[in-house]
Amino acid sequence: MRSDNDSWDITTSVGSTALFVAAARALEARTPDPLAVDPFAEVFCRAAGGPWAALLDGALLDGAGTGHPLLTDDFGSHFVTYQGARTRYFDGCLQAAALAGVGQVVLLAAGLDSRAYRLDWPAGTTVFELDRAEVLDFKRAALAAHLPRAERCEVAVDLRRDWPDILRNNGFRDSEPSAWLAEGLLIYLPAAAQADLFSGIDELAAPGSRLALEEGRPMDSEAFAAKVAESKLSTDMRGSWWQLVYNEQCAPAAQWFGDRGWAATVTPLADYLLSVGRRPPAQGRPDVREVATMVDRITLVSAVKG
Ligand code: SAM
Repeated sequence: MRSDNDSWDITTSVGSTALFVAAARALEARTPDPLAVDPFAEVFCRAAGGPWAALLDGALLDGAGTGHPLLTDDFGSHFVTYQGARTRYFDGCLQAAALAGVGQVVLLAAGLDSRAYRLDWPAGTTVFELDRAEVLDFKRAALAAHLPRAERCEVAVDLRRDWPDILRNNGFRDSEPSAWLAEGLLIYLPAAAQADLFSGIDELAAPGSRLALEEGRPMDSEAFAAKVAESKLSTDMRGSWWQLVYNEQCAPAAQWFGDRGWAATVTPLADYLLSVGRRPPAQGRPDVREVATMVDRITLVSAVKG
């Protein structure tokens, strides 16, 4: 279970979720018609070794003999597609920001996001990568042989604390427009920390700034409590993940930022999947109920500050 002062590295607690989504991106890149290709995702899994590398070699390693969650048909294939879709969506948001002349990109909870290495950035772009020091340490070591395609600035922070000053002290200029990404982050923050995060973004974002994020509609609290109780018996990451998340939302992001002068566009993940030629997991089919419920709750949001 989470607590206000908990900590982690790349293979524990919330840190391991960065490896989990990187592994999903590595699997998506191997599909015949991938939605996104992130060649560094496999580099991270190989660097982590153990089950993270083995799952890319098709090994079934969850200990219960039923297969790694990412390799299953009822969950894994849909989750992998979802990760490919969100990578593609957020790549598009950040590339649009760069085309519009925004030269500062802030990856909140960057984890193993490889966009500083993978995307084509205009000269002079700085990508600030915010995450916990232990996660950034792993990433730096794993990518030691590779060169970023933008100025890359690591900012070791806990996003539940006073990160805006630390970002400024690392060279971020709040007088110039910036592009912000919160991909796979909000569910790992309690509502009060989400509100502080939104305030921090709004405080630092000059007019013309962009924001892209993913949010999940909270579940019914009894259903969530049942999932958490069930997860305590689970040995694999798909099950134990429920203990890492907060079933909280400070406010829908489009509303929060809309009230403060941002123009937001909201795209349900299911609609986005259809728009890129992927069928969302069917609601009402018992075998895919878990992933269908997950997809149904997720929204992709992009916004521009007026
Ligand atoms: N954005 C990356 C991506 O989509 O590939 C990583 C997403 S991963 C699911 C969640 C990330 O959030 C992890 O890297 C974790 O360390 C980071 N994270 C969660 N809570 C955090 C906090 N309070 N401070 C800093 N990083 C945090």
